[in-house]
Amino acid sequence: MDMAAKSTKVLLIEDDNAYANLLTYMLSESDDLDVLHAECLQTGLERLEASDIDVVVLDLSLPDSKGRDTFTTLNAVRPEVPVVILTGLEDERLGNELVRKGAQEYLEKTSVVPQLLIRSLGYAIERHQILAELERARLRDQQVNESRFRSLIQTTTDGMVVLDRQRTVLFANQTAESILGGQMAESLLGGQFPFAAEPDKDSDVETLSNTGETLTSELRTIEISWGGKDAYLVSLHDITERKKAELALLEIDRMKSEFIATISHELRTPLHTINGFNKLMLDGKVTDPETQQEFLSISVKQGEHLNNLINDLIDVSSLEAGKFTIRKEAVSDLKDLIAAATQQLYSVALEKSITFDEHYPDMLPSIEADRSRIRQVLFNLISNAIKFSDEGAEVIVSATAMNDLVTIQVRDFGIGIPEEAMPNLSARFYRVDNSSTRSAGGNGLGLYISRQIVEAHGGRIWAESEPGEGSTFSFAIPIKS
Ligand code: ADP
Repeated sequence: MDMAAKSTKVLLIEDDNAYANLLTYMLSESDDLDVLHAECLQTGLERLEASDIDVVVLDLSLPDSKGRDTFTTLNAVRPEVPVVILTGLEDERLGNELVRKGAQEYLEKTSVVPQLLIRSLGYAIERHQILAELERARLRDQQVNESRFRSLIQTTTDGMVVLDRQRTVLFANQTAESILGGQMAESLLGGQFPFAAEPDKDSDVETLSNTGETLTSELRTIEISWGGKDAYLVSLHDITERKKAELALLEIDRMKSEFIATISHELRTPLHTINGFNKLMLDGKVTDPETQQEFLSISVKQGEHLNNLINDLIDVSSLEAGKFTIRKEAVSDLKDLIAAATQQLYSVALEKSITFDEHYPDMLPSIEADRSRIRQVLFNLISNAIKFSDEGAEVIVSATAMNDLVTIQVRDFGIGIPEEAMPNLSARFYRVDNSSTRSAGGNGLGLYISRQIVEAHGGRIWAESEPGEGSTFSFAIPIKS
């Protein structure tokens, strides 16, 4: 569609003002769109009456109408206006159903982005025009005027193919050539269409484009008459981007479920341990003071573990809500800050007879940083170094200042990290999957949080490792913010 020719009037029927503002803002990326807004169906219908609307963007859930009725009411009153539906995440089926009932397209609310929205409106108007043209011809009981129709569909953004009943291609527009170009001969004309064409049966098909890309298209078939014979008009609407967005959302969903399963397990294990030891002592079965002492210290440690885990979860949730804040101040005693972190882990290290070796230059410059957050990064890196080292090993902590950066390194001589795992280390919940990491315990959040903290300081974190030899984790923070 040539949107530049005249401005296109879009009516947004959406009761959530904030969301309507967001869409209006997105649509303002195109100069040729004129956006009107209605907060309920009634007002929407009045607006439609009052002005020449080219396309409607319709939220199904409105104060005066809900679900499929919202569309069917509007479509019954104004069938000549193309409609793009906004749906929730779980409404894919309803969206599909309404597309079969005459809506031009549905967009899942959380995956709407400016380009997608603007393009969808263009498609909607265009496809609607073609269908209206066919409908007019049918009503007049006339044959489609072939040359007029050819020119109408030649340059549409949807692929358009006309087939005879044996699925031989009689006509294909430019978009169809490019959508199917990779899998059919040079020109589609005269070839066998590779998909079943069944009226009233929409399907999603995968094609190889002329640039070698795999595309997903929505395929729809209607019966027409072409050159005096019964034929099919097949439209191919490229929904590759939408499919990708849907898959990404499914992946997030899957990660969330996995997260809840992991976390419940992680929270339960220390609780079981604490309860178990406490019960033993309550029952009066443990009388020996030394054993009591040992049990209590296990309980305390498990309590601390729970506390750390909950703190990590709070960090992740505030990171994800965009509420993670860094309070910078001048930190002139970086050495002491590092020493405080090693101190904090001293007893954990002692249990595995691990020794710390610390190297600093005489002078470290002052940095602008959030003390407690930097300490948290150090704590995460050093506790990993201990966790993934053998008994009696050494952990080296060092700092250097160079090129306006202070770089802090934590080196261990432990199990190391397989090369293929390196890119995933700072992903949420990622843990290298092998028996030694499983027995070491952990939740896969430490490096994720550490990376966010370092990056919030304008810095960078990275790892080098040799399986079986050990790992070095480094992070660099700019001296001046
Ligand atoms: P956690 O240690 O709680 O599992 P992290 O995000 O801190 O979570 O680390 C993610 C994963 O990276 C760990 O599970 C481990 O597989 C690997 N890893 C991190 N640090 C080291 C290290 N020093 N040596 C070997 N593997 C490490």
